[in-house]
This record gives sequence, C-alpha cells and structure tokens, in this order.
Amino acid sequence: MLNIALFGPPGAGKGTQSEFLVKEFNLFYISTGDLLRKELAAETRLGLQARSIIASGGLVSDEIIVQVIEKTITEHPEANGFLFDGFPRTYIQCYILEGLMMKLNTSLNCLVSLEVDEETSVRRLLERGRTSGRTDDNETVIRNRLREYSEKTLPVLDFYREKGNYQRANGNQAIEKVTADIRVVVRNELAKYLVNVVVFGYPGSGRGSQGAALARKYGLEYVATGPMLDQEIKARTPLGQRIIGLYESGQLVPDEIVVQLIEKKLERSSGVKGFIFKGFPRTLVQSYILDGLLRKRGSSIARSIEIEVPTLELIKRLDERSRTDRCMPYDNTTAKIVQRLAEHETKTVPVINKYNQLHGVVKVDGMGSFEEVFARTSGVLESIFRNG
Ligand code: AMP
Repeated sequence: MLNIALFGPPGAGKGTQSEFLVKEFNLFYISTGDLLRKELAAETRLGLQARSIIASGGLVSDEIIVQVIEKTITEHPEANGFLFDGFPRTYIQCYILEGLMMKLNTSLNCLVSLEVDEETSVRRLLERGRTSGRTDDNETVIRNRLREYSEKTLPVLDFYREKGNYQRANGNQAIEKVTADIRVVVRNELAKYLVNVVVFGYPGSGRGSQGAALARKYGLEYVATGPMLDQEIKARTPLGQRIIGLYESGQLVPDEIVVQLIEKKLERSSGVKGFIFKGFPRTLVQSYILDGLLRKRGSSIARSIEIEVPTLELIKRLDERSRTDRCMPYDNTTAKIVQRLAEHETKTVPVINKYNQLHGVVKVDGMGSFEEVFARTSGVLESIFRNG
C-alpha cells in the first residue's frame, strides 16, 4: 500500500494536486472536508453537529473526524493506498492516523507539505469562492481558517519531521510545476519500500514454480518454507531429522522451526527490493508472525495472490508428481496428499480470508500452461510496480 497525506493551508492546491495523485498512483481519495460536506448535505447527525463549526472556519471535533474516516477506510479494503487531504489537521489527529493505519497493517509513507504564502491562499480561496458555492470561502471565514491552520495544524509538521517522513513542495508555482515536484517525491517513496507478495494456492496449484519465476523476473527474494526445510533434511542437521519425522506423519512443521528459518533468511537479505512468500503463512498464527516480522523491518504485505485450480486437477497433478523424481517426502502416498489438501482447507483458507479482508487477495486462474498462468501472475506484480 502507498499512503500519502497532502498537507498545506486552505488554498494551497491540495484538491487540485490530489486529482493527479489519485490517477497516477491509483489511490483512494479521502478528503475529510468533502466527507463532512456530504454529511452536511445529507443532514445526518454528524453533519448537523459539524455545520456551525465549518461555517465559522473552526475545526470539527476529533470524534466526528474519526467516525467519518474510519467508516470510509474500512469500507475500502481493496484500495491500493489512500490519499489523505485535510487530515491530519491537528497533532492529535497524527496519532489517530497512526492507529488507523496500524489497524490496516500499513503505515503512512509520507506527508507532502504544499507551502504557499498567506496572501496567495486568500487570493485563491476568494477566486474559488466565486464558483465553489462553499459558504466558508469568504474573506472573514478564510482568515479564521488560516488562523486555525497556524495555531492547530502547523504542529502536525513537527510530528512527521520527527518521524522522518515529511517532504516539502513549493505550492506557489504553476500547477504543472507543483505536480512535477510531487511526482518526484512520491516516486522516491515508492522506490524505498519493499514489495512483499504472498503466493497462496493448494498443493499442486503451481504456486511454487510461479513464485520462484516471479521472484527471478522481478528481482525479489524467494522465501519458500518447503525448500528451506528440505535443505535442512539434505544437510542432515538435527533440525532436518525432526522435520523428516513430521513430514512422514503428514503434520505441519511447528512455528518455532519455520520462524527461525525465515528470520535468518530475511536478515541475510538486506538490500533486496522485496520478498515473495510461498508456503508461509500457512496458519492464522503464522500470518500474525509474518506481519510482525515485516513490521519489524518497517514493511508490510503489498499484495497476495491465490492461484486457483479445481480439486480433481490438483489430485491428478500431485499423483503424477508422486510418480516422478520430483516426488516430495510429504506427497508420496494418496493418503498424505489428501491430508495436505485438507490441512490447506482448514488452516490456510482462513489466512486467505483474513488477507482478503485486509488488502484483497487477487485470484488467478491456475489452469493452462505454465506460461499462460505466468502471464496472469506477472500482471499482478506489474500493477504493484506501477502503482505501489
Ligand atoms: P477543507 O475542505 O479541507 O478545507 O475543510 C473544510 C472544513 O471542514 C474545515 O474548515 C473544517 O471545519 C472541517 N474539517 C475538514 N477536515 C478536518 C479535520 N481533519 N479536522 C477538523 N476539521 C476538519
């Protein structure tokens, strides 16, 4: 997810620049001002409470702001990222935004501050007032809004300056020039963050070969727990001996083993562009572990893919594989294959459902040749690199 807050005094050009940001980076636009005006127009309880404050140019209470924002964010789990306009507007709202982002298991990438001098703001707002129909675009209220901005909103910058994710753009320039400057800031942000993708699918869906090929094509680190465990078996480590026993009885390897291996892998991969996870997380507990492992690195999951293949086809593929030298110790009998499919159903499907609610899992048809499926899975990765 790419989350940006556009900051600046009334009349800085936040609304105008938002239009370009939303299109270019495929973001979901949240303007608290627009949300409040909608509530006002619909004469809802919240709208009626906010009416007189908005009319005088004051700031609406945090209780009202939290309600309108939370509702909008939770109604759009599929969003690629959010663009906030007019929020956070007080120091306290910075903490509120942190909390809301945490709930979505993401964070604010950066706050872009559009800097304009006061007289430019007033001139632009008076001009806008001629056509906007907004009752708060008149000189008395405008001056009041600017006073509120200096007193209550400017401290927001201290919060992000301290956090180290605050950028500035000169908002006095021509619209196109401001756009170009913001574009550079956001592109730099995009280049900074890790692209982490989870590839889900039943055993036999092709998630392993697709995951490995995607990692090669996009220069990402492939993290597949299966091969990591096999490595331990091949190297005949004590861990490997324990793993063989578990495989033979068709059980999942305990989290403490898997987590150790993954943590080691993540630590050794500093400087990479991101990770493709396959075979992990396999349980709800592991999904929390992965969230924690990534958060520790200031990162999160960008996208999940689920490769879908009908059950009969899965069994056919696994059965065929069991008769070749690619046979894995955990799928060399029909009973083990059935057990693995059942394990996926009961333990991993709830993880997919959880991620689906959090950030939307992209379903990909796993039928057809490797190349056909690869074109589909690559399409998902392309969209992340294009839009974050
Ligand atoms: P805007 O469209 O952003 O200029 O907002 C118009 C009015 O809505 C402001 O003058 C405030 O009264 C109110 N408002 C918008 N966003 C917020 C916020 N984050 N906190 C408090 N009041 C807000």
